[in-house]
Amino acid sequence: MVETLSYLAKFRDWRCLGIGAVAGLAAAFAVLSAMVTAWASLPMVVAGVALGAGMLLGMAIAFSYCVLHVVRKIHEQNVRRDLALNNMIQGLCMFDGHNRLVVWNREYETMYKLGPHIRRGWSFTELLAARHAAGMLPFDPAEYEANMTATLSRGEVYNGEIEMEDGRVILVVNRPTSEGGWVATHEDITVRKRAERELESTRAFLDMIVENVPSPIIVKDASTLTYLLVNRATEIYFGTDRANIIGKSTIDILPPGLAETIRAEDTRAIESGEVSYQGEHGVVTPGNGTRIVSATRLPVKARDGNAKYLITVINDITESKRSEQRIEHLAHHDSLTDLPNRAAFNECIDATIAIAAASQESFGVLSLDLDRFKAVNDVFGHPVGDALLCEVARRLEQVCQGAFLARIGGDEFAVITPTGPQPQAAETLAERLSAAFESDITIESHQMRVGFTVGVAIYPQDGGDATALVANADAALFRAKSEARGSIRFFEVAMDQQLREKRMLQQDLRRAVEQNELTLHYMPQADMSGKITGFEALARWHHPRHGLVPPDVFIPLAEESGIIGALGEWVLRTACREAASWPRKMHIAVNLSPVQFQHGDLPSLVHQVLLDAGLSPARLELEITEGVLIGDFTRAVALLRRLKNMGVRIAMDDFGTGYSSLSYLQSFPFDKIKIDRAFVANLNHSQQSATIIRAVIALSHGLDVPVVAEGVETEEQRSFLAAEGCDAIQGYFVGRPMPIEDYAKTVGRKESHMTLVARG
Ligand code: C2E
Ligand code: MG
Ligand code: MG
Repeated sequence: MVETLSYLAKFRDWRCLGIGAVAGLAAAFAVLSAMVTAWASLPMVVAGVALGAGMLLGMAIAFSYCVLHVVRKIHEQNVRRDLALNNMIQGLCMFDGHNRLVVWNREYETMYKLGPHIRRGWSFTELLAARHAAGMLPFDPAEYEANMTATLSRGEVYNGEIEMEDGRVILVVNRPTSEGGWVATHEDITVRKRAERELESTRAFLDMIVENVPSPIIVKDASTLTYLLVNRATEIYFGTDRANIIGKSTIDILPPGLAETIRAEDTRAIESGEVSYQGEHGVVTPGNGTRIVSATRLPVKARDGNAKYLITVINDITESKRSEQRIEHLAHHDSLTDLPNRAAFNECIDATIAIAAASQESFGVLSLDLDRFKAVNDVFGHPVGDALLCEVARRLEQVCQGAFLARIGGDEFAVITPTGPQPQAAETLAERLSAAFESDITIESHQMRVGFTVGVAIYPQDGGDATALVANADAALFRAKSEARGSIRFFEVAMDQQLREKRMLQQDLRRAVEQNELTLHYMPQADMSGKITGFEALARWHHPRHGLVPPDVFIPLAEESGIIGALGEWVLRTACREAASWPRKMHIAVNLSPVQFQHGDLPSLVHQVLLDAGLSPARLELEITEGVLIGDFTRAVALLRRLKNMGVRIAMDDFGTGYSSLSYLQSFPFDKIKIDRAFVANLNHSQQSATIIRAVIALSHGLDVPVVAEGVETEEQRSFLAAEGCDAIQGYFVGRPMPIEDYAKTVGRKESHMTLVARG
């Protein structure tokens, strides 16, 4: 009844109300007529009663109709509600003011696998317990309930996302109702959430890419041209944090003129709506100095077709520009002293000749050679040598103001004087250069004095082109060095003549090697008793006009011109072939030039020569000088090791001259040390020579290396050496260098000539 009335009140069903009203009026009329007929006649009473009863019946019928109608309506409404509820894609449940479940839908049931057990009237606690039991509540039910009811009791909406153990994500919204209960919607947002996450991770990935792109990327708002987004490369490029960039415009960050230019470029790009390129230009950044950059601008349009953003990608070419400049600098400068190098010198001399020729002026070319540099390098090591060269360059630069100074080789420098009166200007400069080295140079607490030998050639009289001028300055230097180190010499025609002769001799030597005009002499080596144990092969050159040219002359010539390669191979082949033919298996020593170590594959050559000659490697002894180890030490030692591994023996020749660095002896296990003949020759005159010989013998024995003394001419020298423990000797006392025929008997040949051996 209450429900019916409340329905009537709520839905205001006018048809039912109308029927009810008619029925009510009929009832009232029946009562009234009954009361009136009470005073009237019985038939009237009967008629009245009948009429009243009929009316009451009508009223009952009308009321029943109303009730039935209302019940049907309510049923229809319930059906519709259930239909609506159960067709919701969200789960729904509703609780009354006593936390009792009053309504829920099928989706809710399915979502939490509650099945048919769920009951109307369940407390919220019971419902949560059921969900928990079904594994559909991934957290503590009591805590959840407490939090939720606390929020709802404040009249607030309690919502949250539940991540289910099976991977689903459910969005729950609990909304309080006016009746004191609440309605909850549960929406499965797994798919949306996944899409969101994917979008998020894609965005994060893109952000990461943009952030890490090594080129500065800048995004500006197209309407205000303020910076919206910059990546890390932009921070580096501007030399400031993005906090100082975002939200600002170019004028806030860059110098006004530049900011205006960039703004104009930005505007142009936005107006054109197309990608635009701005070539190389300088940008004065807030914290990274001036950068040289090019820029590509890309306007990004919104849906309405208007530009929304402007993306600028910067290509910072500052470093590559600097490298270009550095490379350019390196190409023209010496990396150690930073002085102009040979290439720059050649360019300068050509330019100076052109100027002097046009103005009919004169200038000088000075060729400078640092004295005793090699000794410094070897005694104190390369770092000291390098520091010395830098100090020398500094002093020269101080003197050479106005002149062009270059370092054109290891310890070789050259100067081009300005045009002016010559030779006075060149002479004054040369003297001032020499004077700059009168005081000692101290490097790493080593005090040393170095000097310069200078050769000078004057344009135009000593040469009209660069080649002639440089060659003649070198000729003057060559002469100065041979006369007195530290001297200054001007070019003279006679020097040119000498150079010419030298070149001719070189040509003759080349031809002599090609045409097999060289011969070999063999010089015996003996033990201390004088018994010959082997021979050293020494090259001889009989020049058709000049007669016998000493090896001290033609070997350096061969080294300078590269002829030494062919010459050395010829000596090696001839000596090995010769030794292989000896009946006595004596050793043969062959001298090797440092130049032979610099080019080609020497160990392979030696191997091939031994094979061709049929000589056992054990019988070959290769004599090298310190020169082999100066320069590319590592390569030289590697080659020596390969030779030694073949079974060939290696002797250190001329020990005691040059720099005689002990480190060389330590760096390679030599099979023999040959004391230079200068010490033996001086034995009679110099106590120092005796001391040096004694020291070398002691040193060699300490290293377990046998010692041979060269240049032994007298018995006196032999007996001194024997007393000192020397292992072997070589010299005129044993035998002079001679054609092998003169030693035929010694090598075991039957037919023998008289051996010319000078004794004493
Ligand atoms: P070296 O290898 O030290 O040869 C020894 C030099 O000392 C030879 O001079 C030899 O004649 C000379 N000598 C040896 N004992 C005495 C002595 O008791 N008294 C005097 N006065 N001299 C003596 P040579 O033949 O003039 O050779 C000079 C240098 O030329 C050699 O010095 C060697 O460095 C070089 N040489 C000679 N032949 C060749 C060669 O085939 N290849 C290379 N790379 N260098 C060679
Ligand atoms: Mg030798
Ligand atoms: Mg020697």
